Amino acid sequence: MLEHNYWLTTVDMPAPDAGRPLPEVVDAAVIGSGFTGLSAARTLAKRGAKVAVLESETIGWGASSRNGGMVLTGMKLGVNKLISMYGRERTQRMYAASLASIDCVEQIVGEEAIACDFSRCGHLEVACKQKHFDDYARQAEVIAREFNHTLRVVQKNELSAEIGSTIYHGGMVDETSAGCNPARYVAGLARAAMKAGAGIFEHAQVRTIQRDSRNGETGWNLWTARGPLWAHEVFVATSGYTGAATPALQKKIIPIGSFIITTEVLPEKLARELSPRSRMIYDSKNYLYYYRLTPDNRMLFGGRAAFFPETEKTIRQSAEILRRGMIGVYPQLGDAQIDCVWGGTLDFAFDIMPHAGQLDGMYYAVGYAGHGVAMATYQGQKIAELMAADRAGGDQPENPFVGIPFPGAPLGLYNGKPWFLPLAGAWYKFLDWVS
Ligand SMILES: Cc1cc2nc3c(=O)[nH]c(=O)nc-3n(C[C@H](O)[C@H](O)[C@H](O)COP(=O)(O)OP(=O)(O)OC[C@H]3O[C@@H](n4cnc5c(N)ncnc54)[C@H](O)[C@@H]3O)c2cc1C
Repeated sequence: MLEHNYWLTTVDMPAPDAGRPLPEVVDAAVIGSGFTGLSAARTLAKRGAKVAVLESETIGWGASSRNGGMVLTGMKLGVNKLISMYGRERTQRMYAASLASIDCVEQIVGEEAIACDFSRCGHLEVACKQKHFDDYARQAEVIAREFNHTLRVVQKNELSAEIGSTIYHGGMVDETSAGCNPARYVAGLARAAMKAGAGIFEHAQVRTIQRDSRNGETGWNLWTARGPLWAHEVFVATSGYTGAATPALQKKIIPIGSFIITTEVLPEKLARELSPRSRMIYDSKNYLYYYRLTPDNRMLFGGRAAFFPETEKTIRQSAEILRRGMIGVYPQLGDAQIDCVWGGTLDFAFDIMPHAGQLDGMYYAVGYAGHGVAMATYQGQKIAELMAADRAGGDQPENPFVGIPFPGAPLGLYNGKPWFLPLAGAWYKFLDWVS
């Protein structure tokens, strides 16, 4: 078994010219080269802005190349919770944005001819308990009534048409969701951003950012591992890897590790038995498993395997925990060889919601909570449109996530180092046991 991201074995990442010096001045500096940053860079560059994407590591190095490739509708929080937090009207706009975010990915993949196995295969949520299943019909009814969107509840006795596992109490299908190869998608986005004229600078960690004016114009001085640059505007797109260069944002984001294993290539017949419709699948627990077939028929199985503190053994330990979890779902995979294991970092806000807008004068979009493939792409585009509108004095684009309260830690007891994760992990396991 390799401690390696399987998706990276399927892709040629673009390699921008490492010797190219940073520009002295840009219209927009985008920090981070994942879906958010690259989607923003593409949009800004297409509108004629001079853009530099600054990346600590290499293109797509963060969550964007490491995820499950599930292009999902909805948000992490359930719809009733969302309505209680934001009211019907704003929740309707949020839900519409989540549906539009899938179209946004599909449109970019089409326009840029990105070969990333994008497919509208739908997603399946499976109920670990009878009461979770009982709630599906209520959720589907609210979603149909409030958002005019159809989900299909699948009774336990019909579930074999969806999944080759007998441990669940039923399921719920959303045909709108999609799947893709995320590393190929992020590589394609990077090529598209460069084609539009954006510069991407790898190994250019942003260390400090300061307000500054130049020739009478206000902007920002950024000091990076590859030297300084001055930008009119900054877009922070650092997700779960947000660090000390943007301390106010760092304090609002909880980085949480998630891990994935992939099996060897499975025989076609077994693959069809495990997932007859190649859905993107996740279960109903807080401490959930998510899984799918890869385009070449491996089982990809992910979850929040081991909590804090992470050590060099965490990835290997996670592989064993996930393998046991996978066999619990699919006893048929008892003898399947595990080829790869890897991990990455998710970004959670304290209210488990996406947030976008401006903080300390810089633009940002974060907080995707495991629903970032579509929403990060969408927010990158939307916040880039907002930047352009602010610059030109035009109308602000519709974005229901801008302007909602963005809570920090209770009592301010958080400096970006999530000391409370072991407690939170134990709490969620407890909740899964009792609820
Ligand atoms: C294991 C795993 C599985 C997941 N599965 C799914 C899934 O199936 N479906 C789904 O919708 N979502 C999933 N997600 C979430 C999704 O991958 C993320 O929400 C999304 O990729 C976030 O994209 P991003 O561009 O905002 O951030 P990232 O892709 O994380 O990129 C942030 C980048 O910022 C860079 N950076 C940070 N600080 C600096 C700095 N100071 N200077 C320069 N660069 C910096 C980092 O190096 C990093 O490359 C998963 C995440 C993980 C980790």
